[in-house]
Amino acid sequence: MAPKSVYVWHVLSCSASAEQDLTATARAWLQNSGEERIELKVSTFQKQTTVLGHCHRHDGCGLAFRFMFLKQENLQLLGLVQEGERFFIVECNKKDRKHDGQSKLEVEQSILKRKYSHLPTALAKKQMVTDKVPEAHIPTTRALDGSRHRYLKKRSKFCVDLVEMLKDFLNNPPEPVSVFESMNAAVSEDEVRFAFFEASNMQAATEYMAGSERIILISDCTYQTNHQRLVLGSLGLAVLHRDDHGKVRCRFWPVMFSVSEAEDESAYDLLCKAFIDKTGVNPGKVSNIFLDGHAGAFAAMQRQFPGACIHRDLQHVKKNIKDNAGKLQDTNLRTYITDVVEFSAKLSQPSEFHTVWKDTLGRLRNEWHEECGSKDRLV
Ligand SMILES: [Zn+2]
Repeated sequence: MAPKSVYVWHVLSCSASAEQDLTATARAWLQNSGEERIELKVSTFQKQTTVLGHCHRHDGCGLAFRFMFLKQENLQLLGLVQEGERFFIVECNKKDRKHDGQSKLEVEQSILKRKYSHLPTALAKKQMVTDKVPEAHIPTTRALDGSRHRYLKKRSKFCVDLVEMLKDFLNNPPEPVSVFESMNAAVSEDEVRFAFFEASNMQAATEYMAGSERIILISDCTYQTNHQRLVLGSLGLAVLHRDDHGKVRCRFWPVMFSVSEAEDESAYDLLCKAFIDKTGVNPGKVSNIFLDGHAGAFAAMQRQFPGACIHRDLQHVKKNIKDNAGKLQDTNLRTYITDVVEFSAKLSQPSEFHTVWKDTLGRLRNEWHEECGSKDRLV
């Protein structure tokens, strides 16, 4: 089918943040382009997520946009590969004649009330006169008040008290806490991310690592440590420890801590950088890392410890099995595999692990296979 209109293509880079979604990218681009009254909706085009935008400023206006992120393989073709940068495509159909015509009054007013909501109402009105906004377009005081109220409510993610408290913590950390100084750290009403540690604990971990041939790290984050949903994160060592009953157990030795607004890549990045900087560890010596499987954590760890083998922790492996076994509707199989995973995770010798799994997989292939009579079940 022939396209209804001629589309113009733009390839543009957007914010380096991997978290930013396509709708936010589209909205930011439209705002910058002075196209403030475009209604967006998420759609799928050739199996790819796209965002469609249509003009609602003019009666019968046909101006439309389509946004999509550029795929990795196409980036390379275009020679656009740059660390930490994402590219998106905007398609825009040929400007509709009606788009240049007179716009609806209430639409203009609603655009203006949002555009000037960063100012108190009286100042906003004054500024609109200075900016030569036609008198009929200036919104009512009541409308401006409402917009201003929504703007103030939305603006900051964190309350002033919390920001003050965190800044105080950073400037005067309580004994024995030390704060990691970093360009990537931030505490404001919009952003929270910083790392801290205890110097003597750090010293002990550094000495332990110097005497170890290979280093195994664990990282995890906890929510709900406070009412503003900040995340407490930690990166430390997996060490063998003899408990009170003489039993040897594997334990987590937390070394570096972080507080951040989200469990995202930049938070994990700061955690890793702080750990490497303060312990002076050679990242190449880190052989294994255990994580809860968060994508941002995975990317940050891979970058900071390129030689390490990254694993999901046992809890999440079991959860994966449970989820997938649920799809098979085979509770016996689920229990059986979970048991073997749990048992084998605690084996200390690689040869034992190998034997258990060789035996288990062999048994699953033969017995279970025959019982089920299906080839696909245990692939
Ligand atoms: Zn239009």
